[in-house]
Amino acid sequence: MPSPIGHALAGLAAAWAADMVPGNRAWRTAPASASWFERAGNGLSLACVGLGMAADLDLGWITHRTVTHSIGAVAFAGIFAAALAANAHRPIARVTLMCAAAYATHLLLDWLAVDLSEPRGIQALWPFRYEWFISGADLFQQTERRHLLSAATMVKNARAILQEVVILGPVVVGLWLVRVKALAGLAAEVTGRDHPAQ
Ligand SMILES: [Zn+2]
Repeated sequence: MPSPIGHALAGLAAAWAADMVPGNRAWRTAPASASWFERAGNGLSLACVGLGMAADLDLGWITHRTVTHSIGAVAFAGIFAAALAANAHRPIARVTLMCAAAYATHLLLDWLAVDLSEPRGIQALWPFRYEWFISGADLFQQTERRHLLSAATMVKNARAILQEVVILGPVVVGLWLVRVKALAGLAAEVTGRDHPAQ
C-alpha cells in the first residue's frame, strides 16, 4: 500500500480536479496577489489532502483496509461534507464531490498498489459485500510500517515514495498549471462583474 505522501498528493489532485467542474466557482477563486494557501484552495483543499490519507486511520483499532477502505466510507465522507457545506452556505454538490472524490482516491491507490499482507487488497464494497479487491497492477509499492528507523525500511519507503511522486507529481503539477489559468480567468470574470465596463 502507498505511503501517506502518495495519498496526500492524490487527495489534492482530486480537490483541484473537482474545482474545475464548471458551475459556481466564484467562491473558489483567488487573485494572483493572494497567498499560495488561498490560491491552492485554502482549508477545503487542505481538508481534501487529509481525506486522501484518512482511510488509514483504521491502523491499530480495527482490521486494516476494511470499513474505512470502502464505498460505504466514501458515502459517509460525502454526506458529512454535504452537511458541513449546507451549514456553511457553500455549494453542496461541489463540496460533496471534492470531499468524496478525495476520500475515494485512497481506495483507488490502494487497489492499484502492491499488497503483501493477506487478505490482499481492500474491502471496497462494504457494507454490501465483504470480498477483498486488488487490481494486481502493482502501480505503487508496498511501504513498510515496522522498524521505521532501520536502514532497510528507510530505503524501501524512500523508493516507494519516490515512485509515488514520479507518478502523481506530474498529475498535481499539471492540475496546478490549469488551475492558475482558470483562477486568472475567474478572477477577471468576478472583477468584471463587480466593476462592469462603462
Ligand atoms: Zn489504505
